[in-house]
Parts: sequence; structure tokens; C-alpha cells
Amino acid sequence: MVDLKSQYEEIKEEVNAAIQSVIDDTSFINGPEVKNFALSLAQYTGAKHVIPCANGTDALQIAMMALDFKPGDEVIVPAFTYVATVEVIALLGLIPKFIDVEETTFELKVDQIESLISPKTVAIVPVHLYGQCSNMEAILKTAKKHDLKVIEDTAQAIGAVYTFSDGKKAQAGTMGDIGTTSFFPSKNLGCYGDGGAIFTNDDQLAGKLQMIANHGQRIKYHHASIGVNSRLDTLQAAILNVKLKHLSRYSASRNEVADKYDAAFKDHSNLLIPVRSRSSTHVFHQYTLRLENVDRDAFKVYLAEKGIPSMVYYPIPLHQQEAYLAYGYQAGDFPIAERLCQQVISLPIHTEMKAEEQAYIIETILNYFQ
Ligand SMILES: *Cc1c(COP(=O)(O)O)cnc(C)c1O
Repeated sequence: MVDLKSQYEEIKEEVNAAIQSVIDDTSFINGPEVKNFALSLAQYTGAKHVIPCANGTDALQIAMMALDFKPGDEVIVPAFTYVATVEVIALLGLIPKFIDVEETTFELKVDQIESLISPKTVAIVPVHLYGQCSNMEAILKTAKKHDLKVIEDTAQAIGAVYTFSDGKKAQAGTMGDIGTTSFFPSKNLGCYGDGGAIFTNDDQLAGKLQMIANHGQRIKYHHASIGVNSRLDTLQAAILNVKLKHLSRYSASRNEVADKYDAAFKDHSNLLIPVRSRSSTHVFHQYTLRLENVDRDAFKVYLAEKGIPSMVYYPIPLHQQEAYLAYGYQAGDFPIAERLCQQVISLPIHTEMKAEEQAYIIETILNYFQ
């Protein structure tokens, strides 16, 4: 699905030098690279504050802790996303209020938000799934009207740019109260282990997020609140400092691959290509097709036999996952999310995809339908 080895080969000298320098300094925790990376990422994204942490799941949890949500508070979250988004809601004793998603763009259905709002609702968590921004203008407007917080899960969309109707532009993760992201190796900006970050434009919230990520202390051994231990390693920060310089190029390469897939499949009756939002650029964390009248399992087996990996993100919507059945949802509650789980398939897409490799993938896929 991704080719991290070839990507490393391209930047090997820079990365090796950065790693060696951390080892020479032995400042493995909170070394200067961590702060440098936070500042560089703030500059890149336009976020006022970037707080690095251990992974994207922690980023979501710290965000919800910093906003002082109380057990029993309700959080609106798409039924079609990676489990982490919902897991932290449940862990903090909050109640996930699932919402269905758009069939074409996979974002939460903004026209259903208001019907889910109760006196207990505290937040909306849009997920910028597969690499393009949700309808942030509508989400922010509804949140403002009902005094709700917005936490953007930007784990799949770092660098995507959203354009508001007045022409103002902002990057994914910088529009809500808080944005969260992940540097898991296969993410668009991936490190060589685990990593994550939290974005905010609010000075006070930034201090609180930083404090919670560091055992609830602003001053060493003075604990003002219950926190967690969630740090980005210096080694990972050093690697990310190198890779951030290439992120725009990486996004462009992913778009080139996506454009070729689009061109090859756009008029196909069995393969529905991903629809691009008019108000967001796409960074194609995944290139995800919807299969129409195709036995997906058989198609996957065929691809595997031809040496082509494919993945299903995600096979089961969250309201039907065993761990979340206790919230009382049933089959049929979110028909689009449920159908997408049967239909979607993601194809290989990465920054070092060679033209011949992609041509083979396209030809092999088209041959299946001959
Ligand atoms: C990857 C991912 C996360 C979690 O990130 P980790 O760093 O693996 O904890 C959260 N939300 C979404 C949508 C993701 O894709």
C-alpha cells in the first residue's frame, strides 16, 4: 500500500544525519528538535500553537480532557471512521452520538447535526477522512449557534487546504477549537515509530493542552490537573523535521497518482472514483473506490493473486463494533456508513509510485471487468 523504503532512500542522508545528531546529544526526551519541529509545523499549517504528543489517539484524548468535558456529555462523531476517534470519547465516559456520512465525500452529514443536539451535547468531531476536509464552514456555523466545541481529527489530512465561501483559506486541523493529527509511519507525514500533535489557535487552551500532555504540570512536580504522559521522542521529531520539508512534494505526488487512477476509472460502471470536495484540496492519504455490483472479496483475492495489495478502510461501522454495541445502536441506523463498509476498497498510493507500477495496477483492475 505504501513504499516507505523507497521514500527513505530518497532522503537517507538527511534523515541519518538528523538521527545521528540526536544520538550524539543523547537528549532523547524533550530535545531541541521537538520544539523546532513544533515551530516548523505551526509555520507550515498556520496553526498558532502545535503541541507534540505520543500518537494521534493521545492527541484526541488530550484535546477532550483540555476542554473539560464531563462523563455523560455527548459528542457527535461519524459512524464511519477509524476507531481511535470514538475510543477516546468512550474512555473518558463521554457518549458518542454517531452521525451518518456523505456517500460521495465520506464526511459527516452536516444536515443531520442539529437533529442530534441535546442539552448534553458538548462537541462535534469531524474526521477529514482519506485526506480532504469536511464541510468546516457548516460545522463551525452550527457549533457556534449551539455553543459546541469542534475537534478536527486531521490524522489523514495534514496539509489539506479548505476554502471558506468568503475566500479565506485554512489548513486542516486549524479551523476548529482544536485539531489533532498522527505521525504513524504510513500517514502522509509519518515518522519511524509513533507520534502525534495537537493544534490550536487559542493561547490559553495551548497552555492547558501542554500541561495535560505532561502529567498535568506546568512547573515540575506541581500537578494542577490529572494529566497523561504523552511525548514525541526527540528521534521522531528529528526525522519529522526532515520529512516536513518534503510534505508539499509528497502531497503533490499523491495527487498525481490519484489523477491517473481517476482518469482510468472515471467512466467505469463498477468503479466509482472518490469525489473531490469543491471547498477542500485533497492530500490522498487513501485513494478509495466504491465498488458497484462487484464481489469485493473475490476482487481482492484477484488483486492479491496479481501481486496488488488493497485494503478496506473500514469493514465495520463503529456503531456495529462489538465494543460499542452498548450504546444501543442497530443495523440500519446509519445506512450510508453501513453500505460504504461493504463497498469501499483502497488502492496503493504513495509518494514513490512509479508510472509502470501504476499502469500495471490500472490494467490489471480493468482486465477484471473484461
Ligand atoms: C491514524 C488515525 C488516528 C490515530 O492515530 P495513532 O497515531 O495511530 O494513534 C486517529 N484518527 C484517524 C482518522 C486515523 O486515521
